[in-house]
Amino acid sequence: MGRGIVTLLGPVEIRELAGRLGLRPTKKLGQNFVIDGGTVRRIVRTAGLDGDDVVIEVGPGLGSLTLALLPEAARVIAVEIDPVLAAQLPRTAADRAPELAGRLDVVPADALRVTAAELPGSPPTALVANLPYNVAVPVVLHLLAELPSLRKGLVMVQSEVADRLAAPPGSRVYGVPSVKAAWYADVRRAGPVGRTVFWPVPNVDSGLVALTRREPPATTASRAEVFAVIDAAFAQRRKTLRAALAGWAGTAAAAEEALRRAGVDPSSRGERLAVTDFARVAEHRPLHG
Ligand code: SAM
Repeated sequence: MGRGIVTLLGPVEIRELAGRLGLRPTKKLGQNFVIDGGTVRRIVRTAGLDGDDVVIEVGPGLGSLTLALLPEAARVIAVEIDPVLAAQLPRTAADRAPELAGRLDVVPADALRVTAAELPGSPPTALVANLPYNVAVPVVLHLLAELPSLRKGLVMVQSEVADRLAAPPGSRVYGVPSVKAAWYADVRRAGPVGRTVFWPVPNVDSGLVALTRREPPATTASRAEVFAVIDAAFAQRRKTLRAALAGWAGTAAAAEEALRRAGVDPSSRGERLAVTDFARVAEHRPLHG
């Protein structure tokens, strides 16, 4: 892949561009823009792209990360919900990376709903994004489900969310995001990021999360059936699985029977179970109704 010349956006350029667009960053859309070139380069380096990768970037914003991705990927598909930012991005790329701007496709859409069919060209192989923090987990889960072509990912999220996504069974913050992400991928924390690399400065620190796609657990239950058990188990986190899954199974006695047949202790709690255990429990759901 040709590298081309890219001039990254610095703090002055970000503020100037935002001023020119009359942009008032909103909390609702998680609009905190990275103003630090070192962080942008670190994200791209940690993503481990090869020149053939087609990257999907969610929430390119003013383009800080997009510009650094262009030299490292075959194409970048940037999905941005804010129409003003989506309209500006191709111009920014043409200004600052003229030789590489042809690699960029901007899709003005909500990443929570975007479908594979809406994305131009060959399907994305890597997700690299500084995610809008309020929807980070649902965006990651939606894209992993919707885009089987995604092999890897490197996302920046709120530090607590990074912990939750990468938590192993039994840890204090293990929960629905951890188990569902583990259905699709090996997930690990890939380093902390301080809040001062953003404008405006958010009131939380951030973290990088690396995802590597793997085969889902071998099970006769569907993903929806397994996810239904996960949701039920954590809806009442403090309860034993026997009690938490009573609604799912019909009665507490039926839940106990299903758990026993799946080889899971009915008096344990969801936070102890790996995704493979949830899959086995789903296979033993009693017929009721
Ligand atoms: N990537 C840029 C950077 O690092 O400076 C901006 C990151 S900012 C944390 C999040 C971006 O996601 C904003 O540009 C916001 O408009 C966009 N966004 C928020 N919700 C979105 C959604 N549901 N789908 C797509 N983009 C979204």
